[in-house]
Amino acid sequence: MNSSDFSDELSALDAQALRRRRRVVDSPCAPELVVDGRPMLAFCSNDYLGLANDPALVAAAQEGARLYGIGSGASPLINGHMTPHALLEKRLAGFTGFERALIFSTGYLANLGVVPALVGRGDAIFSDRLNHASLIDAARLARAELNVYPHLDLSALEAALAASRAKRKLVVTDAVFSMDGDLAPLPEILALAERHNAWLLVDDAHGFGLLGPQGRGAAAHFGLASPRLLVMGTLGKAAGAAGAFVAGAENAVEWVLQKARTYIFSTAEPPLIAHALLTGIDLIEQGDARRQHLAALIAQLRGSLKLKRWRLLPSETAIQPLVIGDNAETMAVAGKLFERGLWVPGIRPPTVPAGTARLRITLSAAHSEAQVARLTEALTEME
Ligand SMILES: *Cc1c(COP(=O)(O)O)cnc(C)c1O
Repeated sequence: MNSSDFSDELSALDAQALRRRRRVVDSPCAPELVVDGRPMLAFCSNDYLGLANDPALVAAAQEGARLYGIGSGASPLINGHMTPHALLEKRLAGFTGFERALIFSTGYLANLGVVPALVGRGDAIFSDRLNHASLIDAARLARAELNVYPHLDLSALEAALAASRAKRKLVVTDAVFSMDGDLAPLPEILALAERHNAWLLVDDAHGFGLLGPQGRGAAAHFGLASPRLLVMGTLGKAAGAAGAFVAGAENAVEWVLQKARTYIFSTAEPPLIAHALLTGIDLIEQGDARRQHLAALIAQLRGSLKLKRWRLLPSETAIQPLVIGDNAETMAVAGKLFERGLWVPGIRPPTVPAGTARLRITLSAAHSEAQVARLTEALTEME
C-alpha cells in the first residue's frame, strides 16, 4: 500500500468487494426510475412521503425562482438570509413545537456545525455507536472528549455520564437509526441527560415528516419538552427537497447561529428551496393518508417475507434492513435484483459493522402494494 497514485488502494477495495459505484438516474425521484437507460423499480430513496417530485412542490419551487431567483449569493450572516428562509424557520419552529429553528444547507453540515458550537475542549460527548457518520465527524471536529456507548445501552450511557467530570456534557443520538431503522428510547435518554445536567441533540433525519402527529417528528412522537433538548431535522428526505434545520430553546439556537462555522461560512440555501419547503411542510402536515399508506406497505413487506437464512431486522419504520452478512453475497444479491429490474442498495462496512452487510430496503408512500409484492416475491425466490 505505498503506491503514489492510489491504484493499490483501489485494487484492495475491489478485492474486498468494497468499491462503490454510482449509477446515473435519468428521471425524477420516484419508485419507477430510468437508470442508465433502463426502467427500474427502486427501493433506495429517503423520499418517504413521495414529495420529491410532487407537482405542488415543483410549482412552489418555480414560484420561488420567479420571486427570489436561484442563488442566495452569500452566507446568512452577510446577505443570504432572505424572506423565505425567515418564514421557513418560523414555520419549522411552530411545526416541531420548539421556540426557534435555524436552517442549514444540509443535515451533514447542520451536525458538523451544531455539535462544535455546543461543546469543545474540556467538555464531553456521549454518542450511540450506530449514530450517523455526520455525528461522528462532528464529534471529532468538536475536540471534546468522546464517549461512545454500545447501541441503545442506556446503563452504559448512564455510567459514562455519572463518571464524567466534563464542564458541559452533550448526548447525541439518531432518533431513527439510518441503517437499522430502529427507534431510540428518547424519553429515557432525555431523562438521563437531565439528571446528569447534560444537553441532548437528537438527529431526526428519518423521523421528521413521519413520526408524531402530522409528522411533527420524534420529539412530538414522544411528547418531549426540555430546555436542554435540540433536534436536527433534514429537509431532503421526507420533506422532499434539500437542507436541514436545528430546533430548540431560543438561547441555544441563537448560540448555534453565533458559533456554528458551517452556518457562518457557507452560502445560504437557495431561496427557491426554502420557498418550496413552505409548501413541503404543508404537505407533511396534511399527509396522514400518505403516512397510513406507508405503514400498510411496511406491514405488507414484513408479513410477506418468509426468510430462512437472511434476517429482517426488527424495524417499524420505512427503513427495512435485510441482513445477509457477507459483503460479496450481499452485493451479488443486489446485482441479481438489479438484473431483474429491482434496485435495492447493498450496504457494506464501514457504513455498517463487519459481518452485517445488508440490503437496505426503504419504502415510500409513493410505492404501491403491487410494487412491494414484486420485491418480496423476488427476494423469496432468491434466498
Ligand atoms: C441523511 C442523514 C444526515 C445528513 O443529512 P443530509 O441533509 O443528507 O446531509 C444526517 N443524519 C442522518 C441520521 C441521516 O440519515
